[in-house]
Amino acid sequence: MENPMVKCSIANCEYWEQGNNCSAEVIMIEVNAHADKSEPQTRHGQAYDSEHRDEAEGVADTCCHTFTERTH
Ligand code: SF4
Repeated sequence: MENPMVKCSIANCEYWEQGNNCSAEVIMIEVNAHADKSEPQTRHGQAYDSEHRDEAEGVADTCCHTFTERTH
């Protein structure tokens, strides 16, 4: 499966690059209620879950679980 172009405006994320491009190898989206959930799998240090499913109550109920605040 070819990776999609991921555009993101969260410029203080470690994976954010100029042009609003996401450089993460894996992007895990969760519902807001699971924003702090620990994920069972990792790839290049980025956590994800291939099995767990949820249902969002609209776009405002989703969040990027891969977000890591930039420290430099
Ligand atoms: S990991 Fe998520 S928050 Fe960070 S740049 Fe990619 S899409 Fe945006």
